[in-house]
Amino acid sequence: MIRMKSQMRRLRQINSAPPFESQRSERRFWADEAQDYIFARVKERPKSPCVQRVVRLLELMTAAEELRMELYQAHQDFESTHNPAVPRAFGSDDSRLRGKVRELDDHLREMNKRIGRYRWRPFLRHYPGYTYLEDLYLSTRRSTDERWENAAVRWLLRHQIKGYGGLPAPILRFRRCRQCSAWFYALTDHQRHCKLKCRQRLYSDSPEFRAKRARYMRERYRPQEKEREQRATEGGKHA
Ligand SMILES: [Zn+2]
Repeated sequence: MIRMKSQMRRLRQINSAPPFESQRSERRFWADEAQDYIFARVKERPKSPCVQRVVRLLELMTAAEELRMELYQAHQDFESTHNPAVPRAFGSDDSRLRGKVRELDDHLREMNKRIGRYRWRPFLRHYPGYTYLEDLYLSTRRSTDERWENAAVRWLLRHQIKGYGGLPAPILRFRRCRQCSAWFYALTDHQRHCKLKCRQRLYSDSPEFRAKRARYMRERYRPQEKEREQRATEGGKHA
């Protein structure tokens, strides 16, 4: 049943995303998709080669998009002004940016080498209920692992990689939890943890929290304890 549901969602999604009521519902939708396409298997079989290849691709894609954003900004600054103080991103005198250009090229080279293994067969059909005609990209591979890997990469390439100018691609919503380092799809820009529990754990380990707790113990809890103890001994005396 779950399989059926996720299959239907995949079929519906491969053509186009439905119109969304809000940015939040859009992100929620892609987070669910990420769960079905990527995270479920990553969590289930983290050590399998197919999962490791997809995770490496994810790392490369997020790093490449971050570099692209940075270089885009530098390129804009370079183009829009003749101020010599602006780093000459694509000239010869900013070694930091030259390094970034090289880094992005390296990432692209590795990604292209990696995605060269995937094969899809285009296929057209009418969507059930004649909602629209849709193009599907079916895996030509046989094993479950290979089919999963093909579908996961296809989905990442099709839906998550395309940013535009200063707008980041959705791929940057893929993040690793600061606390447990699990992958998650961020619903808000500032989200850094996969779940509430991880955020709370991080907070309870923080110096601020520990100082607060120590102060509470010193100023409120311990005096109350003392009082209780005293009352208990006094009570004992009377008895
Ligand atoms: Zn976590």
